[in-house]
Amino acid sequence: MIEYLGDVHLITCFGLLFGAIAGSFINVCAFRIPRNKSVVFPPSSCPKCEQSIAWYRNIPLLSWLAQRGRAACCSFNIPARYFWVELITSLSFAYFFRLSILSLSWDIGIVGCVFSFILISVIIIDLETMTIPDRFSMGGAIIGLIFSFAYPSLHSFEGVDIFSRLHSLFTSLMGLLIGSSVLYWIGAFAYRIFDRDALGEGDVKLLGCIGAFCGWKGAIFTIFGGAMVGCAMLIPLMIFQKVKARGVDTIDNPVSWGQEVPFGPYLAVAALIFFAGMNEFVDKWLSVKLVPILNVIGS
Ligand SMILES: [Zn+2]
Repeated sequence: MIEYLGDVHLITCFGLLFGAIAGSFINVCAFRIPRNKSVVFPPSSCPKCEQSIAWYRNIPLLSWLAQRGRAACCSFNIPARYFWVELITSLSFAYFFRLSILSLSWDIGIVGCVFSFILISVIIIDLETMTIPDRFSMGGAIIGLIFSFAYPSLHSFEGVDIFSRLHSLFTSLMGLLIGSSVLYWIGAFAYRIFDRDALGEGDVKLLGCIGAFCGWKGAIFTIFGGAMVGCAMLIPLMIFQKVKARGVDTIDNPVSWGQEVPFGPYLAVAALIFFAGMNEFVDKWLSVKLVPILNVIGS
């Protein structure tokens, strides 16, 4: 038992390490993909002067801390975002590695790490450019379908026979279609009512990806959870700006009602919360509350 616990800590540390490296790669993707540059070539270079970065100055988390966010080559101040992305990816990989070793199955570890990689990339790119690249939303949807076939436990199916695999693939496909169509219709009605685009096509495709990984319940949770996360983060920000605006003349890019705010990051946060453990509560709640209602309607 003690040996086993030692393994748990060791595997968690490996998760931290791999996550920090993956987070560093997300930073590269977030900078290069919107600019249509290759993510593999050239190797790491300074975003400002484009000089290549020596490996010992490119160690995730540590280099940023050691250089206090300043580039060694020029006067470029490396945004704190680089550090936070590496830290959050590192922690989420550690979480899924730990869950894997505790459940004695690599399924959740592999799927959880890939899913969090996709979602953290989407959060950063959507916040900075207001777009979600297809390779994450549509590519993510295809990966979700493949994982569902490879790991039926993703949709709580026991066994790995062909019947379980096909059932799991079908559940994933339903999640993809239901998730994106519900969000599409919410957007369509919002457009009619408010006469402005409330949702982008990117959000609809992203929800297809989330549905492929989480099933239809996860997709529906994500839509409403995403709206709640959005309110929880934007309302305090708006109040803070109001208070701050009294002291100074102008604030750069203030957030206000009716302004275009990317929805993708909030959807991604809600999906991560669902996938990381909220699914058990939601499944239980839906089967207690919703299924009896559906049975009444159906009978
Ligand atoms: Zn530089």
